Amino acid sequence: MNDTYLNFVNSPFGARLARSIGLPKPEVLRRYRADQPEFDGLVAIGAGREPQLLDALADVISRTGFTSVAHQSAGLWMPLANRHGLMTGRFEPAEAGPHGSVAALIFDASGIEDSSQLDAAYAFFHDTLRSLGKSGRIIVLGRPPEACANPRQWTAQRALEGLVRSLGKEARRGITANLVYVEADAQSHVEASLRFLLSPRSAYVSGQVVRVGAVPAMQPPAFDWTRPLAGQRAVVTGAARGIGAAIAAALAAEGAHVIGIDMPSALEALDASIRQLSGTALAFDIAAPEAPAQIAAALDELGVDIVVHNAGITKDKTIAKMSEAAWHSVIDINLAAQERIDDALLAAGTLRDGGRIVCVSSISGIAGNMGQANYATSKAGVLGRVQSMAAHLKERRITINAVAPGFIETQMTAKIPLAIREAGRRMNSLSQGGQPVDVAQTVAWLAHPGSAGVTGQVVRVCGQSLIGA
Ligand code: NAD
Repeated sequence: MNDTYLNFVNSPFGARLARSIGLPKPEVLRRYRADQPEFDGLVAIGAGREPQLLDALADVISRTGFTSVAHQSAGLWMPLANRHGLMTGRFEPAEAGPHGSVAALIFDASGIEDSSQLDAAYAFFHDTLRSLGKSGRIIVLGRPPEACANPRQWTAQRALEGLVRSLGKEARRGITANLVYVEADAQSHVEASLRFLLSPRSAYVSGQVVRVGAVPAMQPPAFDWTRPLAGQRAVVTGAARGIGAAIAAALAAEGAHVIGIDMPSALEALDASIRQLSGTALAFDIAAPEAPAQIAAALDELGVDIVVHNAGITKDKTIAKMSEAAWHSVIDINLAAQERIDDALLAAGTLRDGGRIVCVSSISGIAGNMGQANYATSKAGVLGRVQSMAAHLKERRITINAVAPGFIETQMTAKIPLAIREAGRRMNSLSQGGQPVDVAQTVAWLAHPGSAGVTGQVVRVCGQSLIGA
């Protein structure tokens, strides 16, 4: 769907008019394109005292196309960083210039043990923020507060959330800010998450906190970063259109064979979207009682590595006016069907060990929404599923996570009355709706073989929406 306002204020005439009468000007976000370099430009790196993640960071930076420079906050650690060829120079604000060419700012806060040491974060972002270019990236690395040794350290690490969320709101110009808490011994599992958050693939993910955990007794699997899902099979429900079609395309682009499922009534559209991906189209109503067994049977012979529960519906009415059928069908399709399908795939071993489950929730499930008691209940239930099942699935090295989209431009949101639709679009740090591809790329990151340390989490794809913030 078209965002007429965004297009207008980014035209030469519209930009002049917006400037002269002070209208907000949402940035055209830089999104991933296969024909453009994914990692390009200068990364400025800062650190609090005794940073512990520079080694892991050095590994990632050295494998991407970035050049990096150290801010003076990281200067004390230059010898360590240089050992890995991480820092090629020092950050000089004059060189980068205001609104300059810096592509990303990364601050390693993992060594911060007391709130007084947060001053280093002030020094780094105070000096560097204005040098960050359009669609730039801010990443702060820390330690999970709940795993900290004492209350002082827990407090200081928890404080980073407020910093990152504020930077996301202050930066504007399509810039995103995210916090990655890395557990002790999880350094070797951080690369896929860092790459995603540094890449244009995460264009609409901002103000998020991602936890990367250790993965016991597991060698990181071998894969090719350019086609990490090669040889894998991925099921996507609701794949005929909208976000589901975009997820199918993103997983196929990463090398997966995609099995798209949608309603028998949507078979024509499903066939058309899946044929382009050389995938397999299956017509099932996922809410039908026999569907889980039939889906498991259809997949059983070759098994499956990735399951994406995307199919969903809305039937909006305030609860006093809502029919029982509208309540029931939304809970059944959006939540209970996911549970039944996973039960069937897990019981039969159809979903292989080491696999991935990604569920599509919604920020309505986090915040609740007027007229959406059924939908918000179902989507909050999806979050409960992810949080409750993660520990059980660890034994089989299966991860389960949720994405919670905010306002995404699809046929579902096209049905929203204009005034509410405009509010939904603008009430976020990027002042615009997201695209289906933004959700799809986030799903692809969670489905990535390198994301083994990310489980039980909810990642909002909402441009840091004020709703449910
Ligand atoms: P959409 O209506 O465009 O597409 C949903 C797809 O699911 C359709 O192809 C539909 O036929 C299929 N589907 C519905 N019920 C089914 C069933 N019983 N069996 C099989 N397939 C079924 O919706 P969308 O905007 O692409 O949303 C996709 C998911 O993202 C949904 O779960 C939705 O709740 C969620 N979401 C969307 C937004 C948004 O802004 N668009 C925001 C938050 C969450």
